[in-house]
Amino acid sequence: MCGIVGYIGTRPAADILMDGLRKLEYRGYDSAGLATVLEGELHCVRAKGKLQNLQDKLDGQENPARLGIGHTRWATHGKPEEHNAHPHRDGSGRLAVVQNGIIENYRELRETLKAQGHQFTSDTDTEVVPHLIAQYLSQLTEGDLQGRSRLLEATRRAAQDLLGAFALAIVSADFPDELVVVRQQAPLVIGFGQGEFFCASDTPAIVPYTRAVLPMENGELASLSPLGVEVYNFAGDRQRKHPITLNWNPIMVEKQGFKHFMLKEIYEQPGVVRTALETYIDNAWAPGQADRTPVQLGLPDDLLNGLDHVQVVACGTSWHAALVGKYLIEALANLPVLVQYASEFRYSPTPLIPHTLTIGVTQSGETADTLAALEMEQTRRAAHA
Ligand code: GLU
Repeated sequence: MCGIVGYIGTRPAADILMDGLRKLEYRGYDSAGLATVLEGELHCVRAKGKLQNLQDKLDGQENPARLGIGHTRWATHGKPEEHNAHPHRDGSGRLAVVQNGIIENYRELRETLKAQGHQFTSDTDTEVVPHLIAQYLSQLTEGDLQGRSRLLEATRRAAQDLLGAFALAIVSADFPDELVVVRQQAPLVIGFGQGEFFCASDTPAIVPYTRAVLPMENGELASLSPLGVEVYNFAGDRQRKHPITLNWNPIMVEKQGFKHFMLKEIYEQPGVVRTALETYIDNAWAPGQADRTPVQLGLPDDLLNGLDHVQVVACGTSWHAALVGKYLIEALANLPVLVQYASEFRYSPTPLIPHTLTIGVTQSGETADTLAALEMEQTRRAAHA
């Protein structure tokens, strides 16, 4: 899980992008980078390690560009080195892409693109995307556009070739008035300002500038230009969308005086557990009420009564939390519980056991492997039913 930010408007983009990336630091990262478009040229700066390393490279560079994208990377494919940091560019160096997620079929795409003459400079899954978009840009005819912009149309065609869970932001020196964004199973939010537009993996990067946001849906892409925002589905149909107004406080995700986010999260645990439980506690319950339970999860009784088995899919810390859940469920509900690594489960699921409740645990709600494992399990069970 990494961070994407994008800006198109009237203010210097680099400052807004760096500010946005700082707001997304809580998501964790190992390297960072920016690409801006200025006077017909693409400028790309990347650095391994903390955002300060990127800031050090930017300091002293006058950059009034009004369009750009930024990224904090959490490496999944290729070491956390500068040459693997995003943005990644096409062969001409004029088109730049940042990606959050995993392109599952990148190997096949890379081989095909190599055979077409494209050269690669990184070890990432992401680098196929700018090359693929460039390839489609070179092939598009006027008749292909049907009212869509060239950059959006080439991106749409590229997105249809990609398998996996990903969010993308794209800029090109050849399209200096446009920022294109894509969402497929990874978060992306568009922000609507006065004559300026933003995109980000999460709202804290946007709320200092505007509270009017549009969370994109899976299978959507959008073109952000000074004239406005146009949203399409992957089939190319224009979507009617209206931003919503956020009413929460950006301070909620700041470090609030703690030295690290992890320390802040540890201290927040009692409050978070209390708030989470409050949603499900039946306040009208009193001890001795046999016909009511104090906690209402909203799960149908016939589902719970018919269960023989529970499986939990999770990764990392969530996997450890699930192990605690296993002890509790087994002790309290007397049901056998299997806790699985979502990343393994996706490729090697356990045999289907009837009357199983599958629970996904993800700290962020966005862990790609866990979401994919749940979706796969749902499809597998539906096919078997
Ligand atoms: N899979 C991509 C990479 O390794 C993106 C990782 C991320 O979401 O930061 O570069």
